Formats: sequence, C-alpha cells, structure tokens
Amino acid sequence: MTEFHYAKDPDGIATITWDVPGKSMNVMSFEGLAELDECIDRALADAAVKGVIITSGKKDFAGGMDLNILARMRDEAGENPAQGLFDGIMRMHGLLRKIERAGMDPKTLKGGKPVVAALPGTAAGIGLEVPLACHRIIAADNPKAKIGLPEIMVGLFPGAGGTTRLVRKLGPMAAAPFLLEGKMQEPKKMKAAGVVDEVVPAGELLARAKEWVLSAKDADLVKPWDQKGYKMPGGAPYHPAGYMTFVGANAMVMGRTMGVYPAAKALLSAVYEGALVPFDAALRVEARWFVNVLMNPSSSAMIRSLFINKEALEKGANRPSVPDQSVKKVGVLGAGMMGAGIAHVSASAGIEVVLIDATQEAADRGKAHSEALLDKGMKRGKVTAEKKEEVLSRISATTDYAALEGCDLIVEAVFEDPKVKAEVTARTEAVVGADCIFATNTSTLPITELARASKRPDQFIGIHFFSPVDKMMLVEIIRGAETGDTAVAKALDFVRQIRKTPIVVNDARFFYANRCIIPYINEGIRMVREGVAPALIENAAKLVGMPLGPLQLVDETSIDLGVKIAKATRAAMGDTYPDGEVDEVLFWMADEGRLGRKANAGFYAYDEAGKRIGLWEGLSAKYAEAAEQPDLSEVKHRLLFSQVLEAVRALEDGVLTDIREGDVGAILGWGFAPWSGGPFSWLDMLGAERAVNLCSGLAAKFGPRFAAPDLLREMAARGESFYGRFGAGKKAA
Ligand code: NAD
Repeated sequence: MTEFHYAKDPDGIATITWDVPGKSMNVMSFEGLAELDECIDRALADAAVKGVIITSGKKDFAGGMDLNILARMRDEAGENPAQGLFDGIMRMHGLLRKIERAGMDPKTLKGGKPVVAALPGTAAGIGLEVPLACHRIIAADNPKAKIGLPEIMVGLFPGAGGTTRLVRKLGPMAAAPFLLEGKMQEPKKMKAAGVVDEVVPAGELLARAKEWVLSAKDADLVKPWDQKGYKMPGGAPYHPAGYMTFVGANAMVMGRTMGVYPAAKALLSAVYEGALVPFDAALRVEARWFVNVLMNPSSSAMIRSLFINKEALEKGANRPSVPDQSVKKVGVLGAGMMGAGIAHVSASAGIEVVLIDATQEAADRGKAHSEALLDKGMKRGKVTAEKKEEVLSRISATTDYAALEGCDLIVEAVFEDPKVKAEVTARTEAVVGADCIFATNTSTLPITELARASKRPDQFIGIHFFSPVDKMMLVEIIRGAETGDTAVAKALDFVRQIRKTPIVVNDARFFYANRCIIPYINEGIRMVREGVAPALIENAAKLVGMPLGPLQLVDETSIDLGVKIAKATRAAMGDTYPDGEVDEVLFWMADEGRLGRKANAGFYAYDEAGKRIGLWEGLSAKYAEAAEQPDLSEVKHRLLFSQVLEAVRALEDGVLTDIREGDVGAILGWGFAPWSGGPFSWLDMLGAERAVNLCSGLAAKFGPRFAAPDLLREMAARGESFYGRFGAGKKAA
C-alpha cells in the first residue's frame, strides 16, 4: 500500500493514515479508495481491533477527489458510460457505508467498531465525505484549515454521500450554504455549524481520538438516520417547515443560477427526492443525479476549464523551458489603482516591492491601499497583525528611481500614454541590471510599439492585470514581436508566485480578453439604438449566464473610458472602423453626463448612496422601445456570438495559441458564462455546423460582424470540434 498506511497499537486501536507520497496534500485516487477499503476490511476482520482512527500524515487531511479521475471514469466507462459511472459511485458508497455500519448487527445495531476521523487541517470534498461516514469527526484547532464541500464551484455536487449525509445531519436549511455555495470554514465554525463534532488543540488530536474510540458505546455508533423514528432536522419536504425550505431554495437557486447550472438543479433534486426515502435509497438517488451531472456536457466543460486546464496553465503548460525565474524584487511604476494593487499582491506573496510614483504623496497613497486591504483582512480574521507588518515592510514607496536597483522585474502601470510610458522605461533601464525584465500593464497600447522605447525589446513584455487586482484571478501575459522566452518565463513565474492564473497571448489590439468583451458591450448598445428594450437585453445576458448585462458592465467600467477607447480605435482603424452606431449612443450618454456608476448616472439610475435602482428612463425617451420586440433567443445569440466569434478570430489570427487559455481566460477574465466552460467549449457543445447556421442567420439580419470565421466553417465542413482539433495542448498556431 502506498497512499494509506495501517498500524495497530497494543490497546487495539487501528490507525489508518492517509499520506499520498510526493504530494503536499492528499487527493483521493482509485488506488487510494481500494487501499482504504482494504484497511477497513482488515480492521473489521481483526478481533483484536477495538476501534479505528482515520487520519492524515500531512498537515491537512485531504483536498478532495482528483477530478481528472472523474473525467477519466466517464471517458473509460465503455459503451455505457452512465452505467459505468453509476456502478463506480455505488462502490464508493458501499465503502463509506461499510465504515458507517462498522460491522454492527443490522438488526440490533450492536457490536460495531467505533471509527473516528481525526482531521489535522483542511478537509475538502471527499476529504469531508469520508469523515461524515465516520462516527465522530474530531478536528485540530487550526484556524488556517478549511473544511467543507466545494464541489459546486466546479460544476459538481458532493457525490460520495456528502449531500445525503450533510442534509440528514444538519437539515436541508442549515446544509444549504455548504452544499449550494460550497462554503468552506475553519474547524471552530464548522463545529458551531454542527458539521464537526469536536475541536481540540492540535497536539492532542490523536490522543483525544483514541480516548473517544476506547470509551464509545454501541449507541454512539448508530447514526441518527439509522435509528428508528429518525426525523430530518428542520423538517422533511412533507413537513410544513420543510416544505417552505424547499420552495424557497428552489426559487433562490433559480434566481442565482438562471437555471443554467445543471449541478445546482441536480443537487436540489437529489436533496428533495433523497429526503423522501430511506437512507440507502437516498444514496442511490444521489448517485443517479451525480451521474446525470457528470454526463452533462456543461459539467464536463466546467471541470475541464475550471479545474484541469486552469491547473495545467498554473503549472506552466505553456512555459518556455528556461531555468527558474522566480521574482525577488519587483519595481512597480505608478502607484495608482493598478500599481497599488500589483504592489499589494506581490508583497503579500513575499516579494520585495519598490513602488514608484511622480510624487511621494501618490506613492504613499499606493502603499496605503495595501494597508487598507490588510486591515480589511484583519477584520475578517484572515490576516494577523504580524502578517500585516511583514507585508507592509516589503513595500518601499518612493519617487526615487535609484531605488529600483536590484529589481529583477519591473511592472509599469503609469498613465495610458505612450510618451509617459517611454519616459519611465528609459529612466528605469538606466538604473536596473542587464537581466531585468520590463513588463507593462497597458490595456490598449501594442506591446511591440511600447518596446521601441526599450534598449532590450527581448526583455520587454506585457503583464496585463484586471481590476481589482487583489480579486481578479486572471493575468494576461502578452508577447510582443521581439519578446524573448526568458521574459515569458519570468512573467509566468511571477504570476505563479502571486497565485493567479496566467494565459500567454500574442500582441494585437486589445490582446484577448478586452478584444472579446468590447463586442459584447457594443452589441448591447447597438440593440438599445435599434429599440430593443434595455431590460430584455440585460435579462437575456443574465439568462445566458453572464454575470453582468452589457449595459451594467459599461456603467461599471465607465462610459468615458468607452468613449476614449472608441476614439483611439477609430483613429487607428480609419475608414474600416465598424462601430459608428455604437458611438452615437455612447457619445450621447457622455454628453448627457451619464458616465456610469462613478457619476451615479449611466444606463442605469442610481440613488444617492450609489445603489442601482433600475434602468434609466431617459434611455427609452431617446431611443424608443420598438413595438415589436425580438425573440429572447435571438438576443441571447447576439450577445454570445459577439464574444465567441471574436475568440475564434483571435485563434485564427494567432493571438491565442491554445484554446485552453481561450476558455479559462474568458471565464476568469470577463466572467464569460462559466457553465459553458468558455467560448470554445460552448461552440463544441453547439457543434460547428449549428454554429455556422446560426451565424448565417444573424449575419443576414445584422451584418457581417456575425459572419462565421473561415476556421469555424472549415470545422463545420469536416465535422470537427475545437477540443478534438486543438485540445490538450495541441498548438493552434
Ligand atoms: P491611475 O491613473 O489610477 O494610475 C496611474 C499612476 O501613475 C498615477 O498614480 C500617476 O501619478 C502615476 N504616474 C504617472 N506618470 C508617472 C511617472 N512619470 N512616473 C511615476 N508615476 C507616474 O491609472 P490605472 O487605472 O492604475 O492604470 C495604470 C495602467 O494600467 C494604464 O496603462 C492602464 O491602461 C492599465 N490598466 C488599467 C486597468 C483599469 O481597470 N484601470 C486595467 C488593466 C490595465
């Protein structure tokens, strides 16, 4: 055995220690399940064993199931993958049920062996489902540990009995935040919530577990749901209180997910139907719904993008093979909104930061931003006073470029003006060493052109953060025409240090994310001009799973920024500029002083406190709503295709070289319908042929911006899919 170890002590306690070799965190594999099964059989069969402790040899208990295995389980389940999956999951239930019944007589419920889970730290997913099957969960008092069932975050739900057991342990209402939101909490809070049974000082964990095992009585081993007359806490669905929970939960889930996330619906069904039947039948119901989710293309696409591919990119799937380029000292130029955020995330990751601005006051203000974020973290109990001091001590705020000496990476975030950027590039290069990499955080200026101001264009690169820097997980790395491999590796290693997700794209107007989001905003604005009801536009966007409608999004990013970008784009494109109709609306809004949220006035109306109170009525006064409104699906398609066609063009143009980056970048960068797995996954679900047909219809009615790109046509003709042709790291360009 390699992943679980079995030991028996003289007092008759069998300790099963989970310790996957070569990993810092235990993750459940096929082999692991088989080994755990073997350990349990051995303990139950040995008359000298009085009870069992399941624990971990690491600082944490377990991070969950290896989702690669779930994907493999489906792919390898032969002719009838659903049946194969169901059988596999039922075997898992069999093992956990064996732990739960622990050899007791099914009639008298006597004679079982106590099994306790002793959790030293984090226990997530199946890392909590195994403990839930044990007779007691004892956790070490470790405030850094996170305990919970986060499956819903990647388009699944707890399918190894976690759903059924948690609902029966806490009641559907109390279990809802853990199941529906994937809420993870530290041990003491999980004890208060009733998930964990006991929290003890870390040093006493195993001693206390042993003490409990030795004192446990038969009655302590019988789960409430295995006792006669069990009643679900808070009431089952046919109980007046339970009834209200289910009606409310259904509405809440639909309101939040707009019905586009199959896992949320399936989870609710598993809970509701499971609550109506005995425990073992409920496990079968849970397994059937779990298989239903695993078989749903949306869930597999979400797992692929948000887990498998995201992790591959974070581990450097597209990193050139250059020696480690970890950053030790970073110089951040410009301490405004972006620079201050970049300084904060760098210092938090242990990197020394020199934060430069034109005046000491501005530089100090940038550092104060970090202090404010750390204070917020302290209020939430996430940051200690020492940590705050440590992070702040790493940031030197100054106006003195000489302080940049010794920096191995520069991230420039000064005004979006090529002249200012050129000046700071030259000033920096006069001070830093010959190996230093210079990165710009520009959002609109071509990297290749900015690199002209550098003496070392091969060491010049784009590292494009999204706002707010501390929250947004994506970083777009942009290779200029002359950018070398070391600069790319440096950027990737930096992004890894600050624990964000990178994509690497080639240089072109608006790079990747902004290139795709602008057409989405523009399509929304075009529809306003055509007389489509703004509420229809915004709601259609929500119904396809976009976090913000296009009009709300432009309010958030500000209408004057839109005007600025439109003017610059028009100047660059000349006669070929296609968005005059959009500008008509945008410029009018700006003239009216409706600059968006920051002005408390935009496409939406806001109250004095800045709260959005509804769509602005003046909009319909200027652009009257047409008597006949379009079909909802047409509006949805316009909003989705405006983005995904741009993503396909970015692939065709060689801006994107890896569709995994296209999908992950879309979800993390601009919130593209996460249920779909990203633009390429969505097109694969639709099928290239159907996509081309829909595009033809849209192009005939609304113009050539919807014409299917040649690549999509070719794929339709050959019956290809994006992941079939470009998947698993097959380079597109
Ligand atoms: P900002 O105006 O908030 O900050 C710019 C800072 O640079 C100011 O503090 C200014 O004093 C300082 N500065 C100007 N000239 C300087 C000089 N010569 N030397 C030192 N400091 C100087 O702007 P921002 O929103 O933080 O944007 C900065 C950069 O990041 C721009 O290139 C922008 O395109 C890009 N960007 C912005 C966003 C966003 O959402 N705001 C997102 C991605 C990228």
